[in-house]
Amino acid sequence: GRAAAPARGETADEVLRRVFGYDSFRGDQAAIVEQVIGGGDALVLMPTGGGKSLCYQVPSLVRPGVGVVVSPLIALMQDQVDALSALGVRAGFLNSTQSPDQRRTVEAQFVTGELDLLYLAPERLRLESTLRLLDRGTVALFAIDEAHCVSQWGHDFRPDYLALSLLHERWPDVPRIALTATATAKTAAEIVERLDLGEAKQFVASFDRPNIQYRIEGKNRPDRQLLEFIRTEHPGDAGIVYCLSRNSVEKTAAMLNENGVRAVPYHAGLDNRVRAENQARFLREDGLVVVATIAFGMGIDKPDVRFVAHLDLPKSVEGYYQETGRAGRDGLPSTAWMVYGLADVVQQRKMIDSSEGDAAHRRQLQLHLDAMLALCETVNCRRAQLLNYFGQQPTGQGCGNCDVCLNPPETWDGTVPAQKLLSTVLRLKRERGQAFGAGHLVDILLGKTNPKITQHRHNELTVFGIGTDLRDTEWRGVVRQLLAGGFLAVQGEYGVLALTDAGNEVLFEGRKVALRREPERPTRPARAPKA
Ligand code: ADP
Ligand code: ZN
Repeated sequence: GRAAAPARGETADEVLRRVFGYDSFRGDQAAIVEQVIGGGDALVLMPTGGGKSLCYQVPSLVRPGVGVVVSPLIALMQDQVDALSALGVRAGFLNSTQSPDQRRTVEAQFVTGELDLLYLAPERLRLESTLRLLDRGTVALFAIDEAHCVSQWGHDFRPDYLALSLLHERWPDVPRIALTATATAKTAAEIVERLDLGEAKQFVASFDRPNIQYRIEGKNRPDRQLLEFIRTEHPGDAGIVYCLSRNSVEKTAAMLNENGVRAVPYHAGLDNRVRAENQARFLREDGLVVVATIAFGMGIDKPDVRFVAHLDLPKSVEGYYQETGRAGRDGLPSTAWMVYGLADVVQQRKMIDSSEGDAAHRRQLQLHLDAMLALCETVNCRRAQLLNYFGQQPTGQGCGNCDVCLNPPETWDGTVPAQKLLSTVLRLKRERGQAFGAGHLVDILLGKTNPKITQHRHNELTVFGIGTDLRDTEWRGVVRQLLAGGFLAVQGEYGVLALTDAGNEVLFEGRKVALRREPERPTRPARAPKA
């Protein structure tokens, strides 16, 4: 390949052009690169496909020494190193898949400065031998990729990431750059705290992906719906179909093939060789569909994925955003399509209830699910809802490129039920100084007598039993939609509900609340009666 070894004094722009063949930096890249080259720390929140890699690759080539990249994506390290080698960049990796001999070779290259970039699995930093190795060479910078993995309550926690704070303690003069595509304000704050990045300059890119059309529909015959979607909108296109279980991955892939859509399965239960082969085919071939569990896709860089379909509800908005973000990296029109039904909600609740971990952890999972449901049920622009979730301001009135904007859903005037619920929250707060979660509030409205109600004497409240015109599930729908609309907020570790300014406007200023008609109830599967 070409010689990439940085010529002395080469600028970032020169490296960008000579090594990577690009004319100019995109978005915040130039400022980020400048910050890190100057020796400062950086926290980069940028959506998938935004161009995070260059943010540490270019400084690694400009600064003296080797850029050390911590990444959990062990399966992709070989690919990344190969891609860099093709550009003439000297890269290597250290992880558990290598033989001791292979590792020794890379270690020697690091020490003698024959590398530009060294990829490390996070668990290697638990080894004192790795730390001593790093002392023997020159580290240009530490890049912490997928930095949200440090978040204990996020959707993708990796315990090994907690140890990464030692980088700063042990090498205080080496600049660090943490990068993630998952960026709620909460996650960002957690990254800053756990990685000791208080001094880091923060770069927050827009999370909008204008070329992706977001659509969420009721689930009734998922196979038929998927087939119809692909046939009418994306025939012959490359796409990813996400399912929750290995079993449904296999079934769906088979169903597509039987119906003339070329598809391969991908899940953790497949033989390693088959899995690698299917992934390689997806990257190489045109118009192949991969049906996968969420195990697929982290770090996949295929620019022309035209659609991402979800047949099951993702566990969080972060996950949904990351998975749908794999569509349309080339900027061309693409579709994020999903079907969901009540059965998904029930299934996920069960998974949460039976999940390991303490009550706080389960509550966190529940909050993730609630936010996902809020996205499904919003009567407002999906893009606006997504951007709001990530703490970003959507522009204008609706995006014109989501199902809600294109085809506004039927709504009903939910002002009265909203007032009933909001005033219950308010009364408990004003009269009793109390706050509760959704379940208990609904019990009060429905006039249920249970031990918790009697213990708190909530049957004596004037709002007790004023909501019997709606059923339990409908009330839960109302609660979720009020949360989605920002009329209520979830607070504290117990997930209690509190009134917001918007909620006060509904109670005291006559603000109206439009609620979405509940999604079509899935009809019960027709089963032959047992003989
Ligand atoms: P991320 O890691 O944020 O998902 P990548 O670093 O993989 O994104 O970049 C996504 C795509 O954009 C890659 O194909 C990359 O080569 C391309 N890219 C990144 N920066 C630039 C740039 N300045 N000019 C042109 N293409 C770029
Ligand atoms: Zn929209």
